[in-house]
Amino acid sequence: MRRQLVMGNWKMNGSKAANEELVSVFLGLWQKIGQAEVAFAPPAIYLPQVASLLARSELALAAQDVSAHVDAGAFTGELSSAMLADIGCRYVIVGHSERRAYHGESDQQVAAKALACLARGLTPVVCVGESLAQREADETLAIVGAQLEAVQNLLEPSQLKNIVVAYEPVWAIGTGKTASPEQAQTVHHFIRSRLGEQGAVVRLLYGGSVKASNAAELFAQADIDGALVGGAALNAEEFFQICQAAN
Ligand code: 13P
Repeated sequence: MRRQLVMGNWKMNGSKAANEELVSVFLGLWQKIGQAEVAFAPPAIYLPQVASLLARSELALAAQDVSAHVDAGAFTGELSSAMLADIGCRYVIVGHSERRAYHGESDQQVAAKALACLARGLTPVVCVGESLAQREADETLAIVGAQLEAVQNLLEPSQLKNIVVAYEPVWAIGTGKTASPEQAQTVHHFIRSRLGEQGAVVRLLYGGSVKASNAAELFAQADIDGALVGGAALNAEEFFQICQAAN
């Protein structure tokens, strides 16, 4: 049985005051009424603040990115998986399409980041997904397959079961256009079959314009085990409703 996971990716949003408000309103609403796991991924500078806001809760802390270099060294501006583990992170988003697009991260670099997470006990949330042009050219499964394969080539099969994969079609991110539950399920099923034996335990999240109004139908799909939520995660009430739909 795979435990549902709903993660809020705050991207480059927040302030000390806004974070405190968001987390406290959410915690006021969220009681442990179900099985779903909830995580917040604030900007790195706010990780210690959010760690302390979550200290007495069951909610998990996630980072939005990590260096491929595991511990320490002359890598100005980077944060290592050892450091993220040290301040209490459980998850790290790697290979988000915004990192791939704006920072030129390759499939191989994303795989190296996933490996760095596993080396320090963190769970990488590996993002994959096609652009609109790729979907229209009928390349979705080839693109997603190649993104996944880079990770499979670097990780041992025994490590693969410790990752989470997030399918985020680029055309659905921040656009209000959600993949239909059937479109998402088709790709999730493909990812799960590509993961082979490990596929049975790896959680597959959907991301891309997830809202309170569409979460339940996405979560009802056989191979969707939760969501990676952007914009709607910045509103405590709406994020709470999405998390409730995963219960
Ligand atoms: P939106 O939910 O704002 O579309 O963002 C999705 C996303 O990129 C989460 O990582």
